[in-house]
Parts: sequence; structure tokens; C-alpha cells
Amino acid sequence: MIIVMGHTATDGEINAVVDRVHEIGLKTELSRGEERTLIGVIGANAYAYREAFSHLSGIHEIIPITKPFKLASREFRAQNTVVDVGGVKIGAEEVVVMAGPCSVEGEEMLLETARHVVAQGAKVLRGGAFKPRTSPYSFQGLGEAGLKMMAAARDETGLKVVTEVVSPNDVEMVARYADILQLGTRNMQNYALLQEAGRSGKPVLLKRGMSSTIEEWLLAAEYVLSQGNRGVILCERGIRTFETATRFTLDLNAVPLVRELSHLPVIVDPSQATGRHSLVGPMSLAAVAGGAHGLIIEVHPTPNQALSDGAQSLDFAAFDRLMADLRRLLGAMAKQLA
Ligand code: PEP
Ligand code: MN
Repeated sequence: MIIVMGHTATDGEINAVVDRVHEIGLKTELSRGEERTLIGVIGANAYAYREAFSHLSGIHEIIPITKPFKLASREFRAQNTVVDVGGVKIGAEEVVVMAGPCSVEGEEMLLETARHVVAQGAKVLRGGAFKPRTSPYSFQGLGEAGLKMMAAARDETGLKVVTEVVSPNDVEMVARYADILQLGTRNMQNYALLQEAGRSGKPVLLKRGMSSTIEEWLLAAEYVLSQGNRGVILCERGIRTFETATRFTLDLNAVPLVRELSHLPVIVDPSQATGRHSLVGPMSLAAVAGGAHGLIIEVHPTPNQALSDGAQSLDFAAFDRLMADLRRLLGAMAKQLA
């Protein structure tokens, strides 16, 4: 439920409403807009309690939130959330490109890739140090050594760093090196991990579960938001369907739909979604045309030697072509890269 305070409501009136809501055992989330203050009231069946405070002064209106996700919903916040990652704004008009290898394989390849993608206009370096591989016998990542390499690449290039965390026990350590914590498709419903990442206070890139509905995805975001963490970036990365010709099926419906349902930024990962480097460029353009706030793209100096996801990784020349195409598309849309 949302309590909409009147234009002229004083801080005293706002605090009185908040205190009353807490007294009856519900939680609040304050959203101070330019015109009005909204008090989100969170708790099972919160709307049923409205008469316990509806008489308090300064209240303009009390509205039920009809969606199961509350803090993530457009009803709760009409304006888009912009996640500010040290000056890189995700969710604003400019499109943010995140790029880098699937896995951090070593210092040289990482630096070479970072230097290349930053020169082309990427703002965030991706690279997994902890890899959630389908097989326990596949390369699992370099762990903390890989995180140190990511931090060194940031120091040299100025790129922000996004990297995956796979266990609640590692959140604190990964958060020491990363600017954005990536939560992968296989962990979208790992609630302990979602909450721990929420508590870290770091922005969270939340991949959609490969078999999850949009509602389940937004409820996963709700777990992070409910820890007081405002910085959730949603990432559509393809879902399982009957189609086997591509690794997953990129659900581009999700992009404009999530923008209707939620105020959170949404980006697209065409690399995991397609599994084929030749499809990454076209689907990147389609994603941006459909309203994605950004892209996360796998780039490798020598994709055929990659330790993970080589088939879907762009080499430098293909990345350059994509960036040029993207700039042309954005020009036609009267938009820009961040
Ligand atoms: C990745 O980004 O390399 C990755 C493993 O992503 P996802 O969780 O979407 O499969
Ligand atoms: Mn990958």
C-alpha cells in the first residue's frame, strides 16, 4: 500500500504517519518526490490496516499496490530509478555498455580486453572470477586472484567492474573489489544470496532466471530492495524454450514490459541469450531499439581459446563493428551512449 502525503504535509505529519505504521508492525519505505512524499507500507495484507492511520493529518490518499512485488513496482515509484555507479548512470537516457571476457583467465588478457573496450566507449568491465558452471569439471574461475585483476584493470582504465558472486559467504569479499555485484541466472532464486547482496549496499545486477517468469524475477529484485538497497539493475539474458538452435531464447518482450511494471533499469545480455557470436550484434541493436538501458557483452582477445563461452564471445573487430552500429542506431533514436 502507498500513503500519498499532501503537497503541504509537514515533516511532523510524515513522521507521525511513519510512527503509527511501525506501531502496528508494518515496515515503511519513504520516497520523497519533488511534489509529494510517498510512504510505502510493506507487510502482508497491509491495506487491511489502513483504518489504523487513515485519520492522521497530512494524508492525501491511500492506494493499494496490486502487484505482488511492491518496492520494485511502478506503482511505488513513478519515475525511473537511475543507479549511479561512481558516476556511470544506469537507467538514464544514455545507454551503458558493459563488456569483457566471460571469465577472468589472466592479467594480460583482461588488461588487453579492458583497454580495448574502454577505447570503444564501454563504461563497465565484465569478467567472472567465480563461475557457476553447469559441470563441476569445467573451469571454475580464479577466485580472489581474479578479483584483484579486475580491480587492477579498473585502476588502469577507469572502467567500473561488474563480477559475479555465487555464495552468500563471498559477498563481503567480492564487494571489496567490485562496483556492481552480478547475481547469475542460476542463483536468481537463491534468497540467502539475494538478501546478503542487498545488505552489502553495492549495486546489484540481477540476471533473470532462465526458467523464471517476469513476476518471479521482480520478486527476486524485491528481496534485494527489501534490504534497503535501491541499486538493482535487471538483466534479461534469455530463457529456456523448446528451441534448441540457440543456447537460450532472448525474451525481448521482457524489456518494454519490465519498464512498464517496474521503475528499475533493465539491460540485456545477448551473449548468454544467443550462445552465438554472430547473433550478438543484431540482438544488441534489437535490445536497445526495444528500450534496454544497457548491454553486457562478452568480448575476448582470442575467442577460440577462451576457457568459457568462446562461441558467444566477440573478438575485438566484431566489438568495434557493434559499437559503430550502436552509435548509428542511437543517432536515429536521438539518444547516445553513456
Ligand atoms: C555470465 O555472465 O558469464 C553468466 C554466467 O551469466 P548467466 O548467469 O546469465 O548465465
Ligand atoms: Mn558467460
